[in-house]
Amino acid sequence: MTVPDAPVIVIGGGIAGLAAAWQLQRDGMPVRLLEADDRVGGKIRTSPFLGRLVDEAADAFLARVPHGIELARELGLEDQLIAPSSRKAQVWTANGLMPLPEPNVLGIPLDRDAAEALLGAEAAAAIDADLARTEPDPVRDRDTIGSLVRRRLGDRVHESLVDPLIGAINAGDTDELDLVASSPQILAAAQGGPSLVAAFQKQAAGRRSDAPVFHSFEGGMATLVDALEETLGDIVETAMTVDSIDELPDGTLRVALADGEALDASAVVLTVPAPVASVLVEPWAHASLVLSAIPMVSVTLVTLAFPVGTLGQPSELSGFVVPRSDPSLTITACSYATQKWPHLAGTDEMAVELLRLSVGHTGDQTSPTLDDDALIGLVRADVATALGIDASPIGQRISRWPAAFPQYLAGHLDRLARAEGELNPSGIFLAGMSYRGIGIPANIDQGRTAAVSAILHVLDDD
Ligand SMILES: Cc1cc2nc3c(=O)[nH]c(=O)nc-3n(C[C@H](O)[C@H](O)[C@H](O)COP(=O)(O)OP(=O)(O)OC[C@H]3O[C@@H](n4cnc5c(N)ncnc54)[C@H](O)[C@@H]3O)c2cc1C
Repeated sequence: MTVPDAPVIVIGGGIAGLAAAWQLQRDGMPVRLLEADDRVGGKIRTSPFLGRLVDEAADAFLARVPHGIELARELGLEDQLIAPSSRKAQVWTANGLMPLPEPNVLGIPLDRDAAEALLGAEAAAAIDADLARTEPDPVRDRDTIGSLVRRRLGDRVHESLVDPLIGAINAGDTDELDLVASSPQILAAAQGGPSLVAAFQKQAAGRRSDAPVFHSFEGGMATLVDALEETLGDIVETAMTVDSIDELPDGTLRVALADGEALDASAVVLTVPAPVASVLVEPWAHASLVLSAIPMVSVTLVTLAFPVGTLGQPSELSGFVVPRSDPSLTITACSYATQKWPHLAGTDEMAVELLRLSVGHTGDQTSPTLDDDALIGLVRADVATALGIDASPIGQRISRWPAAFPQYLAGHLDRLARAEGELNPSGIFLAGMSYRGIGIPANIDQGRTAAVSAILHVLDDD
């Protein structure tokens, strides 16, 4: 491979940017990674809380898709992977906390009796009807997660189970979220035969029931980030805010930094959130407009610590989700963190129980703007209502994530493809949470794919 004069520049040092730089380094391409913050990791942040390392946002990654595990393996971290000790979730209902029907995939019940026990005869009949379907019901143009699931399984299953689960993952409204962009898993099942439930049943039958669904590390998700940072060495440069990108007449890209420095790049992998990307690519007017129109939702994650024995929930339970339509709680989800990850409980005299509570979704953007006292008050009220815990926490932490969650509205991928049609010929490749999938494995995959596209672009120019 001919080595280009200018490096590929990766902008943004979240997991997508780090994975892109890792791929470029492995493929022998000169690369620099510029991160605005004084740390890398972006929305992966693990920090000390009551003497233990606790994640402030993502605390695990999906094991069913290969990209996270593959990267961990390449970095020599495979033997450090851990899986949650508890895996059964609950949902908040008019009758209090109830177990999600088991088995389920993304809230879709795979057993009609379990669905009936929680939601009644109407939901069971909807599952029966789906299982009996013989004619295909093709995915429609501009289907949202909600439009498809409501059509196949009825409103009850959608509003009580699927929306709370997927809505919590996306901080969004699944009636607005594009099916193809936001849920590849439901899309694949919907395309897998006439019945959605049967397609998921078939998938589940081919999988060991004790196979981990998630992985993490005892040192938290920062373990992955730290290993990448160490391996990349000098390639990673923090406190480097990129202000603009321009294309010179000879096709070289010029990356301008906030401190006035300008760097030449043979290609750019752009992994910043869409609102920032939109400003950086202003010379590509259509792409800039598309990126500026992707709505972003703020969330706040509150961690509360209680003395051991306070929670009183069976140890196999991992937490609960809350339907958006339920006005009695503000939180969208609560994770029983020490039941999921027992190492976080700590040693006997220091042992605690930790709850991680999420606040904020597309229909509620007020609570994340509350001051700390008001926010803690609100979350504690929800903990009292849902779990009956009135005791004062012995530790608390607020992690605010402003404009963190992109909403892939119907038609997202078509608009993105048109934006990329303008950016890619200039050597700019998008990757990360704002674009083709939320979640660590998806963002690793996007970073690596964008890196390969950047290499092909550079080779093409030779
Ligand atoms: C509260 C919360 C909980 C989550 N839980 C999970 C979970 O359990 N499992 C899971 O898989 N995923 C989870 N996610 C999602 C996951 O964290 C993200 O999908 C992923 O970390 C995003 O990585 P990224 O590289 O795309 O973006 P980011 O992490 O946002 O990285 C972008 C980087 O660009 C930098 N940047 C911005 N502007 C500039 C500039 N002008 N110049 C240079 N650099 C710039 C930023 O500082 C940042 O470091 C969660 C997210 C949140 C917020």
